[in-house]
Amino acid sequence: MRVGVPSEIKVHEYRVGLTPGAVREYVAHGHQVMVQSGAGAGIMASDDAYRAAGAEIAATAAEIFAGCDMIVKVKEPQPSEWVLLRPGQLLFTYLHLAPDPEQAKGLIASGCTAIAYETVTDDKGTLPLLAPMSEVAGRLAIEAAGEAMRRSKGGAGILLGGVPGVPAGRVTVLGGGVVGTHAARMAVGLGAEVTIVDRSIPRLRQLDELFNGRVRTRYSTLETIDHEISIADAVIGAVLIPGASAPKLVTREMLKHMKPGSVLVDVAIDQGGCFETSHATTHAEPTYVVDGIIHYCVANMPGAVPQTSAAALNNATLPYGLALASKGTAALDGGTETGRGLLAGLNVHRGKVTSQAVAESLGLDF
Ligand code: NAD
Repeated sequence: MRVGVPSEIKVHEYRVGLTPGAVREYVAHGHQVMVQSGAGAGIMASDDAYRAAGAEIAATAAEIFAGCDMIVKVKEPQPSEWVLLRPGQLLFTYLHLAPDPEQAKGLIASGCTAIAYETVTDDKGTLPLLAPMSEVAGRLAIEAAGEAMRRSKGGAGILLGGVPGVPAGRVTVLGGGVVGTHAARMAVGLGAEVTIVDRSIPRLRQLDELFNGRVRTRYSTLETIDHEISIADAVIGAVLIPGASAPKLVTREMLKHMKPGSVLVDVAIDQGGCFETSHATTHAEPTYVVDGIIHYCVANMPGAVPQTSAAALNNATLPYGLALASKGTAALDGGTETGRGLLAGLNVHRGKVTSQAVAESLGLDF
């Protein structure tokens, strides 16, 4: 199959659909890959690196969309890309269609077959193409907290790991899933005192074993959260209720109980945020202050480290992308785990929304 990789055009998106390493895999499996000139600039991969991996370089996105059977991207297609998509063309990327009716109309009108990374599942029911970005965001959350805690940044001026003779900083992680576990791992690694709060007792048991007593675990109640944030130097918001907006676990009123200059990192901001006072920020201006508490609420945290994020994303997407490139829509087959995952990922096909959850959110017939 001819596989195309256009440059990402969404503002501040530096990742790329295929890294040179992934291109080499596609070429080794007999596919032809066309990459737009400069598409790898955000991950420091030159056109020559893509050529060395076996790709052909095209000058424009229009050439890629016109010449390829399958388009591999990172972010949802933008309006200038909807009109380049063709009937029967495969699109493999993050879509986040539910809150985006205009994009849904664009994809329906194009006649393409669109598979969304974020709805691909595995047989355990987890989301394998979303998890790598949660891993990145969780680890970054502690770097962000450490930075915001510096006095020069308005923080309380506490070193997360402390030093001999001086206590370490306290980190409270709300939600012990993928983001929360990776945040806790980084905080423990730095020597901080870490507490994870979750509403799932089986998950708390797993975390207790995983960290071998190195983190405190607490069941999530209003009282627990109120107490834990009052003694924390940094709080990481990492809760998720699948398909729903994040619950507001910390109200503005509760900020009064926190220590001045302490930090809230709301990783769950992409689902609306789990602190009442959160609003989305960007890497250009990541923090703001409410009632003396620093808020960090960047909605696309993995975008800060595109080399790591693109590599992690490509590791996860590669087997699915190769199956699509080899078999086309026949890869969406309930007989294999990859095929079942891709079926769950199918959002738009032949002019119709094919995901029940997406159709319901958009008020469309299913
Ligand atoms: P996950 O499903 O792996 O974990 C969520 C955890 O929250 C679960 O363990 C669940 O039991 C727990 N939880 C739910 N309600 C709770 C409550 N009331 N109290 C305590 N715990 C509760 O999800 P994840 O992959 O870790 O993602 C967490 C959030 O981070 C999601 O909103 C995700 O979209 C977001 N995220 C944001 C970015 C970013 O750049 N900002 C990047 C990646 C992920």
